[in-house]
Amino acid sequence: MRPSKSLGQNFLHDQNLARWIVEQLELTPQDHLVEIGPGLGALTQFALPLCKSATLIEKDRRLAAFLRERFENDRVEILHRDALQFDVRELFPRAPVKLLGNLPYYVTSPILFHFTEEPTPVERVVITTQREFAERLAGGPDTNDYGVLSLVVQRRWRVKLAHTLPGGFFFPEPNVESAVVVLSPREPDELEDCDGARFNALVKQGFSQRRKQLRKLISAQSADDWPAVAKQIGFPETARAEELSLKQWIALTNLLACDPPKLAQDVHGEVFDIVDENDRVLRTATRHEVHTQKLLHRAVHIFVFNKAGELFLQKRSRWKDVHPSRWDSSAAGHVNAGCDYDETAAREIVEEIGVSAPVELVVKIDACKNTGWEFVHLYRAQHDGPFTLCRAEIECGAFFPLPLIERWIEARPQDFATGFIECFARFRE
Ligand code: SAM
Repeated sequence: MRPSKSLGQNFLHDQNLARWIVEQLELTPQDHLVEIGPGLGALTQFALPLCKSATLIEKDRRLAAFLRERFENDRVEILHRDALQFDVRELFPRAPVKLLGNLPYYVTSPILFHFTEEPTPVERVVITTQREFAERLAGGPDTNDYGVLSLVVQRRWRVKLAHTLPGGFFFPEPNVESAVVVLSPREPDELEDCDGARFNALVKQGFSQRRKQLRKLISAQSADDWPAVAKQIGFPETARAEELSLKQWIALTNLLACDPPKLAQDVHGEVFDIVDENDRVLRTATRHEVHTQKLLHRAVHIFVFNKAGELFLQKRSRWKDVHPSRWDSSAAGHVNAGCDYDETAAREIVEEIGVSAPVELVVKIDACKNTGWEFVHLYRAQHDGPFTLCRAEIECGAFFPLPLIERWIEARPQDFATGFIECFARFRE
């Protein structure tokens, strides 16, 4: 077979190195492996025995056929496809997912973003790529490599440049050096939280002209009190983009945002109506009392669908007191004392995802353990987004097809708030 230059085919032929690269992925028998561009299987052969199951995505038809013969079985699927056409949402039911790839250089950046941007089930990444690109990924302040790419990726991942490789390890030999990069997830409270879209936009603005001072690039909204901003975050007034650390960029994003994220909510004092087993109001109690004493109370859930009939799910903030970091209905909330279900549903959709849309009652669900002793009225609404997510409540969100959600709940109920599982089952009925 003649290697295709346009598909970036440079095949690894050093077995020891291949084994070492696979070791960096730290595969366990619970993991689902996704390999992009397995080629002739240089890495695949060492990775498959270490994981539970695998999806191998290869764009070259000849290689996909070869891989099928060599590796396909009931735990290994081989897709003849461009990795950029692969729907990453399909991987949520298969988590934890680890991503491996000796990637063609021309497509490394889009593939990396396609698989690692929020929300993603990918938990660790090992890629071999052009050394120059790897250095930009891992770059730190005051270096030429440090820039938008470094900051956007490093905000969510720890990046380690693990090994540089001369061209001789590959056939045909590329005329650039390669490097192995490991991306591992950050601890939940390792860095201050911030709005990812705002962070990315600010960093792009700051690095739009590398040599210019930041105060001339960051738009007028803050120019007046720039000395105070610089002092508070601890960088010189005259600093350029490359002088700020990741933590300082996050602090700057939050300081310039009108609504910086709250780290923890003071919600214990909220007051709800307590109801009897027929949903009749008895008295009021605080949120804290309601949850600790398992008192019956009221809540709403709203399912927001797009035109394609997909359901928007939110991932709850890691700071929530109940079900942190679990997936949940598009919007949901308690009915406050003296309020009714309908007005709460209309309000929650605005407060949580920032859009107003007519809500329609679907079903009333009795209080039970799964709903957290809440009587729930489930509503539906239609909206295609984009949404402005309430950062204090929600980490991220995405639309998902209903059959995929069904498979996901079946495979990994632990990923969801129990109230959502109950609502989804009733909705499907
Ligand atoms: N992993 C093999 C190895 O280490 O020997 C092959 C690496 S080679 C640098 C890149 C591989 O990616 C090739 O097999 C190529 O056909 C495949 N490829 C190129 N573009 C792709 C894309 N967009 N999606 C999936 N595979 C792709």
